[in-house]
Amino acid sequence: MAGAWRPEVVARLAQIVGAEQVLTAPEDLYVYGYDGTAMLHHAPRAVVDITDTAQIAPVVRLAGELGFKLIPRGAGSGLSGGSVPVDDAVIMVLTRLNRILEIDEANLTAMVEPGVITEVLHAAVEARGLFYPPDPGSGKISTLGGNIAENSGGLRGLKYGLTKDYVMGLEVVLPNGETIWSGNKCVKDAAGYDLKHVFIGSEGTLGIFTKALLKLIPRPAAKRTMVAYFDSMRAAAEAVSAIIAARVIPATLEFLDQVTMQCVEDYAKLGLRTNYGALLLIEVDGHAQQVADEAATVTQVCEACGAREFALAADPAEALRMAAARRVAFTALARVRPTTILEDATVPRSKLPEMIDVIEAAAARHRLWIGTFGHAGDGNLHPTILTDERDTDEIARVELAFTDIFEGALALGGTISGEHGTGTVKMPFLARQYDDPTLTMMRTLKAMLDPNEILNPGKVLQPGRRFGERTAVEIEQILGAPA
Ligand SMILES: Cc1cc2nc3c(=O)[nH]c(=O)nc-3n(C[C@H](O)[C@H](O)[C@H](O)COP(=O)(O)OP(=O)(O)OC[C@H]3O[C@@H](n4cnc5c(N)ncnc54)[C@H](O)[C@@H]3O)c2cc1C
Repeated sequence: MAGAWRPEVVARLAQIVGAEQVLTAPEDLYVYGYDGTAMLHHAPRAVVDITDTAQIAPVVRLAGELGFKLIPRGAGSGLSGGSVPVDDAVIMVLTRLNRILEIDEANLTAMVEPGVITEVLHAAVEARGLFYPPDPGSGKISTLGGNIAENSGGLRGLKYGLTKDYVMGLEVVLPNGETIWSGNKCVKDAAGYDLKHVFIGSEGTLGIFTKALLKLIPRPAAKRTMVAYFDSMRAAAEAVSAIIAARVIPATLEFLDQVTMQCVEDYAKLGLRTNYGALLLIEVDGHAQQVADEAATVTQVCEACGAREFALAADPAEALRMAAARRVAFTALARVRPTTILEDATVPRSKLPEMIDVIEAAAARHRLWIGTFGHAGDGNLHPTILTDERDTDEIARVELAFTDIFEGALALGGTISGEHGTGTVKMPFLARQYDDPTLTMMRTLKAMLDPNEILNPGKVLQPGRRFGERTAVEIEQILGAPA
């Protein structure tokens, strides 16, 4: 185990990276105590701002020698507390490692440093007629290193998959300070264990990514964007299944419920029809003829499923305006009440209607305001509770509502996290998803790679609690039977 904080840590870090790259002022440390997760803050003891990949292994070795904990950090946009310390720790900021080292048009790959912003890579490859599909809603700020560490999804996951589907190679500094490389530019590779997939989605707990080789594909030639309005979330969910059953896999198949539509309209004034119960945003892409055919099929299916209104974007400007409704959803919801808690329970696509019922029942049972939006085509929902962390009674009900939502997702064959990771906030629920032998295997892997718990301790696997110090059972007892 890492020992007590030693005062020489700061001076020794400065010897590796330069004194100006080690932050210790309270105001700096305070800022780095947050990520995008609500109700979570813990300031680090120091921040080391890496300017050269070669500095990483020496800092990791120093952590081993002096026994301090180290937390890799990209943009800090995570939504499960992954880059927030749980104890005395040094945060290692990787955003300055932001070079695209190579775009290989013959092999369709990009070699990048971990601090490259997701949308910067999008723009760079699209300028060459290529495409890097993973596009988390946070793509304007999130880093590729953070995306790989969380196995991020996004709005194009249904057709194109997740970050893990695009990582062909990964350079990783291990907790013992050694550097490994797994992967290459070959489309096929069956040599040895596929180690890179052990590290993808490891949330900064197993190694620090210093370089990644990413797969590119040709940029789709054409795209059409549509919106459809339905009376209820259930009707929209049924249309999602019908679109897939009609053998169309849209690039984007997102939805917003009425609460979210209203908040978006109040915020962005996009002209949404807030009198309906749900909105579906649909984008099909590919060759022009295929896109025209698929747009026609989607139109017919939506009408057959009872869409109350349907619109096909006439031009790219209108398409952007339609897509904005989904892009600003989180921001729009976050304006309404002091605290916004968003989750990412995910179910097999066919179970979407039942999952919507689970969320609506949780909102009613615990008397909470929940706006739900998300990646409908992936079965990945973002129930977002609009609350106030100063209201302890309400926060206790929030805890119970999320317990209902996670248990509902698991009962439907789903997962507690489709894309945001476990971090600290979902640790209590991981044991409900996996059995003991499986959890033991995960713990064994962590213990083997990081026996001294240097890297990002207190995340993913350690037993934890969510908001404050109470378990769901204790909260039930405090509140009595919910109304
Ligand atoms: C408005 C908004 C919208 C979002 N939309 C989506 C979405 O659509 N899909 C989605 O999947 N997520 C989404 N997210 C969540 C978040 O943006 C992603 O998880 C993102 O990948 C985090 O990247 P980051 O650079 O901010 O990483 P951070 O938050 O800094 O870190 C996240 C985790 O990665 C680890 N890490 C970071 N860099 C490295 C590295 N180089 N090596 C090893 N570990 C590392 C950290 O230790 C931490 O555990 C959204 C967040 C916000 C605020």
